Amino acid sequence: MAGEPQSDCLFCKIVSGDIPATIVRESETTVAFRDINPQAPTHVLVIPKVHYPDAASLAAAEPKIAADVLTEAGAVAADEKIDSTGYRVIFNTGSGAGQTVFHAHAHVLGGRGLQWPPG
Ligand code: AMP
Ligand code: ZN
Repeated sequence: MAGEPQSDCLFCKIVSGDIPATIVRESETTVAFRDINPQAPTHVLVIPKVHYPDAASLAAAEPKIAADVLTEAGAVAADEKIDSTGYRVIFNTGSGAGQTVFHAHAHVLGGRGLQWPPG
């Protein structure tokens, strides 16, 4: 069923606690944890607890939870004190854009200068 945990999904396993992660925030609908391969001094992933393969499918099925992901991304930025210097929220969508984990997630990146446009 849409949104149900997937047994082969890394991020579902982080939600369930089967795989450890450095969790920095948790809400009723989301979990935020440090990326294992950080690309900036702050690199946190915000994920919905429900499983959808990407941000668009999450937003289509569960718009309130998609909004929660964005709200939590802003809260992470405030917690990490990168809100004043600037940060980026990224949803890689599709393998051609670098998506490797097919459970919707926002990257929150900051703490260094960020190039525009991104590569
Ligand atoms: P993406 O390439 O946009 O799908 O992002 C997936 C991200 O998940 C990458 O930045 C990985 O470094 C990160 N990642 C993979 N495995 C883990 C893990 N076990 N804990 C935390 N982050 C992870
Ligand atoms: Zn999942």
